[in-house]
Amino acid sequence: MTPTAAQSVLIIGGGPSGLTTAYRLSRLGYRVTIIEESPLLGDNVTTGYHSHASRPFTILGCHRATQALLHSLHPDTRQPPSSEIPLEFHLYDNSLVHYPRTNFPAPLHSWVNLLKFSGIPWNERWRLASWVEQLWEGDAALPADLEHRTADEWLASIRQTPQTCRVVWNPLARWLTGNDLSTMSADAFVTSVRPFFLKTPSDSRISVVQDSLNACFVQPITDALTQVGTTILFNTEAVQLRYERERISGILLRDGSLLQADWYVAALPLQQFTPLLPERWLTRYAYFQQLGELRSSDCTIFHLQAGQPCATPRLILLNDTAFHSVFATATTPDRTHFSLLTTDDRFSQAPPDSTPDIAILDLLRSLRLLMPGSKILSTNRQTIPNSILSLKPGTKLHRPIQRSPIHNLLLAGNWTDTGWPPNLESAIVSGNHCADAIALR
Ligand SMILES: Cc1cc2nc3c(=O)[nH]c(=O)nc-3n(C[C@H](O)[C@H](O)[C@H](O)COP(=O)(O)OP(=O)(O)OC[C@H]3O[C@@H](n4cnc5c(N)ncnc54)[C@H](O)[C@@H]3O)c2cc1C
Repeated sequence: MTPTAAQSVLIIGGGPSGLTTAYRLSRLGYRVTIIEESPLLGDNVTTGYHSHASRPFTILGCHRATQALLHSLHPDTRQPPSSEIPLEFHLYDNSLVHYPRTNFPAPLHSWVNLLKFSGIPWNERWRLASWVEQLWEGDAALPADLEHRTADEWLASIRQTPQTCRVVWNPLARWLTGNDLSTMSADAFVTSVRPFFLKTPSDSRISVVQDSLNACFVQPITDALTQVGTTILFNTEAVQLRYERERISGILLRDGSLLQADWYVAALPLQQFTPLLPERWLTRYAYFQQLGELRSSDCTIFHLQAGQPCATPRLILLNDTAFHSVFATATTPDRTHFSLLTTDDRFSQAPPDSTPDIAILDLLRSLRLLMPGSKILSTNRQTIPNSILSLKPGTKLHRPIQRSPIHNLLLAGNWTDTGWPPNLESAIVSGNHCADAIALR
């Protein structure tokens, strides 16, 4: 085991990736300090993941790092309550169809589920299932150039019709990655869909955790960190990485003070990280230069609370509307909370009072989610800047690994290279990689 007694680690950013690194390293005995620009972690914060940290959230069965962390934070008998829900697709005839689940052993279950899924016309389903079977048998292989093609072009090449792409594959891509088929690479599409659909039956489970991300993740980590003496500095903004001879020598804070440690982990969103970098490193290292190739867009989330019961949480993937999905959960026995997500610029740029309530109400009614006569109790809209990483062709090559060329600097964050689309799992995996990299040096 690494001798840790004298080693200190400064983590910039108290989101899931930074908290994961802090949790892992503090358990190994490192002296950890977190600096976080928000006033606190959790419910009352309106930026980044904190803005949705106070609501129920979804975890997929294939998100193993997230599940492992939750298990480590909660004793077996007190795991956060969760319910399993199906994935629902909205078809052109206004009907909803579930993606089926069977308990056949892998990979048979994927094949049977695909054949049973009535969201795709029968002949296309059969073609796809035969092609998937050929992949398993080794009689067909995925093309080597997937990262350089768009997902819609590749899906057309395996004879998926534009209608199936619009009703099934595009909503799925938007839900899993925030990206549209027409802009994301085929490799990013396959990478995000495969763990969910083509692994074991339990991998494709969608769990809605009733407690918020704050209650089952942020608070227990913060408590564990506080118990071992980790310092968490809120309202503290890093403004510059200071360096000496290709090592970080300190972090300059907005108030002019300098914090120093043996190790530094930048666990920030991309747009907040690059301004902190010394100019010299941007010109000298391809590792930092390539960050300029990464693009992201804003995500807007509409919240609406209605006075009606919600017997079970629902997740519906939408097609041909600006909204990617509707997620419905019960807030109390007689109140339902709906959240609708969009990356359409029109909403992020609209003035705060122009919430398109009418369009949303019509949509919820047409989906038969909003009952006639149901009272709308509240609505609001939040835009989270740069929260969706563009997975356009070529992006995979530019997502940085966690070890940087600067010996004592590591990068965490859902946008780093983890093999996952930029989601909570990716953030936690990146946090684990940083902790491993420090512990193993
Ligand atoms: C609307 C929405 C809904 C989502 N829902 C789900 C869900 O249901 N399930 C799921 O698995 N995932 C969900 N996600 C994704 C998940 O929230 C993110 O993937 C995750 O928060 C990313 O973690 P991170 O640590 O990489 O970055 P962040 O969460 O962005 O954390 C970065 C932290 O750095 C801080 N910071 C920034 N600049 C500075 C600075 N200069 N100095 C100090 N601190 C700074 C920020 O305040 C922030 O706390 C959702 C995301 C969004 C936008």
